[in-house]
Amino acid sequence: MQARELSRARLPATVRAWGNKAFLVFLFPVFLLLSPCAGHAWNAAGHRQIAALAWEEMTPATRRQATDLLRQHPDYARWRKRQREKDPDYGVFLEASVWADEIRADPRFYDEKKGSPTPRLPGFPDMRRHGDWHYRDAGGGEIDTRLAQLAHDLLHAQRAAKVYALPWLLHLTGDIHQPLHTGGRNDRGGNQFYVRVPSSAKRAKLQTLHAYWDDLPGPSGQRGAALAHRLAFLRRLPPPSSVEAVGDIRRWFAESHALIAREVYPPTRGATLDANFRRRTQSLAAQRLRAAGQRLGRWLNYLL
Ligand SMILES: [Zn+2]
Repeated sequence: MQARELSRARLPATVRAWGNKAFLVFLFPVFLLLSPCAGHAWNAAGHRQIAALAWEEMTPATRRQATDLLRQHPDYARWRKRQREKDPDYGVFLEASVWADEIRADPRFYDEKKGSPTPRLPGFPDMRRHGDWHYRDAGGGEIDTRLAQLAHDLLHAQRAAKVYALPWLLHLTGDIHQPLHTGGRNDRGGNQFYVRVPSSAKRAKLQTLHAYWDDLPGPSGQRGAALAHRLAFLRRLPPPSSVEAVGDIRRWFAESHALIAREVYPPTRGATLDANFRRRTQSLAAQRLRAAGQRLGRWLNYLL
């Protein structure tokens, strides 16, 4: 108490006058820095693109199995309402791949590190947001071991556990292909590394490198015709070198991690990203999305 009053007394009068508001203004960026993985990995468009490419790889039997599982999920009606594709089963499959990010802002679920538990609802084994399932870096996270567990559940668990596991597996297979979800340069996966991204506005936009990478797939609301257009582009890319290594989580992680050392970062902090860097990272992101989609589809053919 004393220490706090002392430090308040040292603040200039104008700042003291702001009172609690000033405190909040200062606190907010600190919170961003401390949060282990403020980024969501690929934005919603990225996850839908991966799921769409996976769907193309899936056999009719696998598609049927996946659809049957998703129909039993407590949030099926939400996905059905939101989807915009001609084939609703395909559309629901795309929406389900984004679910793990959506529950981070869903009041039915709670953050196990900050919030108190919310009431358990039917069909969910727990109501945690599981923020640390999306990545692994020096500070924590468990994306690789979690993916292995989810795959195991899809093969061997009771039906209810399979229903819960599928949207998670769709999502995390995407996340593990986003390089910054496999560590970084001691900067919480690029969440403490700021860059300036040229925009149509006069001034370049200051954002984290992590957020820049998350948005490389395109506008997050991309669906329908815009999504189909983007998929046509992704399909023309050369296929990944190791599609045959179905479910090779370690390899996917190692590939992502190796990219951090080479191509993911610009040379300096705070730099305005030049056209060359943006072109290179866009192309790299497209390759990672392509690989994730193809691998996810083949993996599901095995798991379901
Ligand atoms: Zn994620």
